[in-house]
Amino acid sequence: LAAAKLTEKTAPGELALLKIIRQRAAKAGDGASRRLRLGIGDDCALLKLRAGEELAVTTDLSIAGRHFRLDWHPPEAVGHRTLARGLSDLAAMGATPVAAFLSLGLPRDLAGGEPGTLPWVERFLNGLLALAENFGVPLAGGDLAESPVAVADIVLTGSVPQGKALLRSGASAGDILYVTGSLGGASAELAALTKSPAAFAARTKASIDSPHLYPQPRIAQGLWLRKKGLASSAMDVSDGLSTDLAHLCAESDLRAEVVVERLPLGPGADLEAALHGGEDYELLFTAPASARIPRKIGRVSVTAIGRMLPRNRRVATITLLRNGRSEPSNPRGWEHFSG
Ligand SMILES: [Mg+2]
Repeated sequence: LAAAKLTEKTAPGELALLKIIRQRAAKAGDGASRRLRLGIGDDCALLKLRAGEELAVTTDLSIAGRHFRLDWHPPEAVGHRTLARGLSDLAAMGATPVAAFLSLGLPRDLAGGEPGTLPWVERFLNGLLALAENFGVPLAGGDLAESPVAVADIVLTGSVPQGKALLRSGASAGDILYVTGSLGGASAELAALTKSPAAFAARTKASIDSPHLYPQPRIAQGLWLRKKGLASSAMDVSDGLSTDLAHLCAESDLRAEVVVERLPLGPGADLEAALHGGEDYELLFTAPASARIPRKIGRVSVTAIGRMLPRNRRVATITLLRNGRSEPSNPRGWEHFSG
């Protein structure tokens, strides 16, 4: 955390803010990852892996007006979602979280505020650090700068035994396709939020059950699948099933058939939301038909939704089986720069 620019009477100043973040990170990180040798305070953090471990690294950018809206999303939810996105990627690899690194770009008014009120950035940290504590992942460094638009960039590191990470490329023809939890709930909530932000805010106030505001990364489920060696491939559903499944198909050089009636619909979700809505942060994985996959991993349900098949030029990459009839599905999830 470096370089000073936030110096105004209304804002605490960068150095003061750094101090706040450092104190709060230390508190939240108590008893956290043994793989973190040195956290905030020096030029670099030091991570120590055990013999035979690999480091998994993922980065996620959240921009105001793009990934969240200051007038819609409580700062706590923005902080939670920032970390959840990175944790979900670690979960998808079957990795154990080691440490998080956060870079924040903030307009001056979000760094400070009226005396007696909690600045936006502190509420953001409340959300982020509460989730960090739940998953035992320390905030081990980052950067801070004044910015015309609020930006949060999170880097997550995780450890995984050498060669054991769950990859998108490992599926085989004949494998069964599974998903954890339910799909479409987050996008159904977003639709409600878009329609009436005030009504939504009243309904979801302080609600940590909201799949859109407070998604729960499936770390335990990813770890379980990796340790049991049951999954042949895995990824997280962040951009919508139709889009993400197409990635898994491409990496494994297969096509997929999804049984529409089997899709576990999230609260308020219709088929459209389950197929194409994003931000569910569930795990999508494949396993050989002979693998015994339980109906629940932890307290989270697991549903078989289809199967993987050899590629066929005359058939779409993803087909939907509806009432026993097959139809092509096109990826319609979230994609940046696609207009
Ligand atoms: Mg991902």
